[in-house]
Amino acid sequence: MEALTVERTAAPKAKPQGPLGFGKLFTDHMLLVDYTGGRGWHSPRIVPYGPLALDPATTSLHYGQLIFEGLKAYRTPDNQIVMFRPDENMKRMAATGTRMCIPPVEVEEFVGLIAELVRLDSDWVPSEPGTSLYIRPFILSTDAFLGVQPSASYRFITILSPSGAYYDTGLAPIKIYVEHTYSRSVRGGTGQAKCAGNYAASLIAQTEAHEQGYAQVLWLDGNEHKYVDEVGAMNIMFVAGGKVLTPSLDSGTILPGITRKSILELLRSWNIPVEERKISMQEVSDLYDAGKLEEVFGCGTAAVISPVGELKWGEKTMHLSGGNIGPLSQRLYDAITGIQSCRLPDQFGWVYKV
Ligand SMILES: *Cc1c(COP(=O)(O)O)cnc(C)c1O
Repeated sequence: MEALTVERTAAPKAKPQGPLGFGKLFTDHMLLVDYTGGRGWHSPRIVPYGPLALDPATTSLHYGQLIFEGLKAYRTPDNQIVMFRPDENMKRMAATGTRMCIPPVEVEEFVGLIAELVRLDSDWVPSEPGTSLYIRPFILSTDAFLGVQPSASYRFITILSPSGAYYDTGLAPIKIYVEHTYSRSVRGGTGQAKCAGNYAASLIAQTEAHEQGYAQVLWLDGNEHKYVDEVGAMNIMFVAGGKVLTPSLDSGTILPGITRKSILELLRSWNIPVEERKISMQEVSDLYDAGKLEEVFGCGTAAVISPVGELKWGEKTMHLSGGNIGPLSQRLYDAITGIQSCRLPDQFGWVYKV
C-alpha cells in the first residue's frame, strides 16, 4: 500500500466536559482506505471527521455487505496511549470479511494505520478510571448498482469515540431475558461474523425485552432454542461448582469475543477449571435449583464484564449472586481493566503501545 497521507482538520472541536456516555461523541479525524478489484487495498488517508458521500445505489445500503469491529485505547498512569489486542480485532475482521465476501484486511498493516489515527487524535483519549477511546473500524461495499453479487469495491473506515463506562450504572448486575421466539443465528449462518445485519435482525427481540424491563436478551441456538449461544453484544459465562462454563465456538453461531478469549486465558493461568461446551438452558436451570449457580456474567469490549443479576427463562426467574457482583466477576474485571490500562503487568503481551 502507498504511504498514509494526513489532512488535518482546520476546525478542531472542543473537547467534551463532564460525563462522556458511550458512542455519542467523535474525534476530529477518521481513517479511510479503499479497495478496488485488481488493485487491492490502497490510498490510506486520514481526513477530517465528516459525512460520507455515497451514491444512493451503493450496494451496502441495499444488501448489507457491511462489517465492523470494536476495540479500545486507554491512557496509562504514565500518560502513554495503548490499545488492547488490536491484532485480534484485525484477524477477526479478516475472517468476518471472508464470510461476507469482503476482501480481508492485512493484520499488521491495518493495526499500524489505526495506531496512526489514534496517535493523531490522542488528546481525545480520556484519563478518568473506566474511560477509554472506543475505536470503530468498519468496511462497506461501495459499488453502485442494484444487483445481488459481491461488490468489486470497498471502503475501510475507522472512527474514534471517547467513552465513559458502557452502562450508566457502572459495574452493576443487569437483568437478562432468555429469548425463545426469535433467533440470532443458525448453523451455517453469520453468527460468528461481526456483520451489521446480525444486529438489525436482533433489534426486535432487544426492543421487546427492554419493554419488559430487561437490559439484554440471551440468545439460544436458532435450531431448537435449547442451548445457550450468547448475549446481545457479549459472550456469556456461568460459574458453577468452582468451574467456569461457556458455550464452545464450534457451532459457528457465536461471535468469538476477544474478551471471552482473554478471560479464558486468564482463568487457565489462575488454574480455575474451564469447560467450553454445549450448555443447555435446562442445565443452567438445574444448577440454579441445586444452589450451584454461583455467578453469571456477560463479557465484551464495551462493558468488559457485565454481571447478570437476574435471568428470566419462560416462567422462571433466577436471581443470582444476591444482586451483587460475584467475586470471580469482580476479580476478572479488575485483572482485565488493570492490564488494559497498564495498572497491572502485561504478562500475556496483550498491550500495544501506540
Ligand atoms: C463484538 C461482539 C462480542 C464481543 O466481542 P469482544 O471482542 O469481546 O468485544 C460478542 N458478541 C457479539 C454478537 C459481538 O458482536
